[in-house]
Amino acid sequence: MEGVEKRNPGQDEFVQAVREVSQDIFSWIQDKREYHEAEILRRIAEPDQIISFRVCWEDDDHNIRVERGWRVQNNNAIGPYKGGLRFHPSVTESVLKFLAFEQTFKNSLTGLPLGGGKGGSNFNPHGKSDREVMRFCQSFMTELYRHIGPNVDVPAGDIGVGSREIGYLFGQYKRLTNRWEGVLTGKANEYGGSPMRVEATGYGAVHFLEHVLKRKNEGIEGKSVIISGAGNVALHAAEKLIDLGAKVLTLSDSDGFVHDPDGIDEEKLDWIKTLKIQKRGRISEYAEEYSGVEFHEDGEPWGVDADIAMPCATQNEIGKDEAKQLVENDVLAVVEGANMPTTAEAVEVLREAKVTLAPGKAANAGGVAVSGLEMSQNSERISWQREKLEDMLANLMEDIHDKCVEHGDTENDHVDYVKGANIAGFKKVADAML
Ligand code: GLU
Repeated sequence: MEGVEKRNPGQDEFVQAVREVSQDIFSWIQDKREYHEAEILRRIAEPDQIISFRVCWEDDDHNIRVERGWRVQNNNAIGPYKGGLRFHPSVTESVLKFLAFEQTFKNSLTGLPLGGGKGGSNFNPHGKSDREVMRFCQSFMTELYRHIGPNVDVPAGDIGVGSREIGYLFGQYKRLTNRWEGVLTGKANEYGGSPMRVEATGYGAVHFLEHVLKRKNEGIEGKSVIISGAGNVALHAAEKLIDLGAKVLTLSDSDGFVHDPDGIDEEKLDWIKTLKIQKRGRISEYAEEYSGVEFHEDGEPWGVDADIAMPCATQNEIGKDEAKQLVENDVLAVVEGANMPTTAEAVEVLREAKVTLAPGKAANAGGVAVSGLEMSQNSERISWQREKLEDMLANLMEDIHDKCVEHGDTENDHVDYVKGANIAGFKKVADAML
């Protein structure tokens, strides 16, 4: 899209995301004048509002600390703004604009009435005490609350924002407004959260993989999988994969990756879950606890030979060289649990080699889809059974998969899922805007 760099100077991640989507959309809208004339793509790529605010909080030593907070409300054509909050030192306005842009297409793909948004802060919860995180969350919400609402904008978690943070944020919203309402998703089950929300992104990505493999007359059982990340998405993807008989070889965090040649089994995964979620420990400790496990400092797992790769950590973790490694190792599919973990150059390498690439906006949409179902339950003042939500998630993922196939230029049985997801996601939002 011409001029996107000029209009967004220094915002590399955002420009990358807009370019990636517009390449596919341009070829598709060639003969569709109504979208051209209404400048729909350009309008979607210009956030409706960006709210930017100062967040002051007090640390345990009584120092006043100052951080930046943002909420990017990208598009509400099909429903209230919806998307997570990310607390991580890498957060900038550009990162949040790219995430809000991607979220708009992802939410459209779910088929639910959800617009796109994203927010967060450069605050780093790592190494902070519970009380410090609480005070930060309360200050963050004190600035944010006037811009959100159950029919306006409904944030949720993302990197650095889990059940603990959502609890602190929700408590503060309630205190400020004197209202209990479904203004956040990812809440704990005791106060209006939905069963299956924690598992949804990881499980959903594995459901997506199941459908990708089914089209190739293959199944998950017996496949070896390399996963990056050790957060909510990575651990639940691993859990589902193990349940379906796959061999999970790796996990990672910002220190490096662990490689377990025997495969991580259910018992070991439970140990890792306690380590990462409850104790907030480092993945290297897994290699200290279990013999035969290697820890590779500062490395990424993409060179480990496997059938499937699932990047579940963060953006741009697979570059050109890593993509070439995956091609050399003949991976059957790359399924993105994270948002835009593959650089534009890496996408090109995989596309050329016809390696199936399931983009995050489709493969990881299970999380926000169950968030949408949490909103429905909150409005209805009801709580659905886990089994019902499990079925709904499985069906939603199948629908998203099928939409990608429909628009993904199926050529000699090879589906361009990136293109399929971009076009299918765009179409609904564009039609709503028209
Ligand atoms: N942060 C998640 C995502 O990237 C979930 C957002 C939500 O549930 O609103 O889709």
